[in-house]
Amino acid sequence: MTAKRRDTRQRAVIWHALDEAPGPLTVEELFGVASQQLPRLGIATVYRTVKMLEEDGEIVLVKLPDGLSRYEPASREEHRHFSCTRCTRTFDVDLGPQWPNEVELAGGFVIQHHEVTLFGLCPECRQ
Ligand SMILES: [Zn+2]
Repeated sequence: MTAKRRDTRQRAVIWHALDEAPGPLTVEELFGVASQQLPRLGIATVYRTVKMLEEDGEIVLVKLPDGLSRYEPASREEHRHFSCTRCTRTFDVDLGPQWPNEVELAGGFVIQHHEVTLFGLCPECRQ
């Protein structure tokens, strides 16, 4: 296989792994998933591919309070992140409508946007 065709396949597998994931993934987590399909995949390739996908606007960086860099598809609808305090995995959750933006609080503060991360136990860790 030529280098270009291999790159295309790696990119497709990595993109698909992110798209199928229950929440944003770190590069290490992404490597763990993608290497099941591409056993010879190296983590340096995953880093390089993630950077390309980010530059192309297909995925976005997600920063949570634990400071780790995670990635998710740019096209994902608005959602919240749930961070498991035991396994440290992060999941997309839908809380429904929350505080609307442009609401004025007591004291004259106006909310422009907000970021919420929920912490708790995921279904697997609850068992
Ligand atoms: Zn968990």
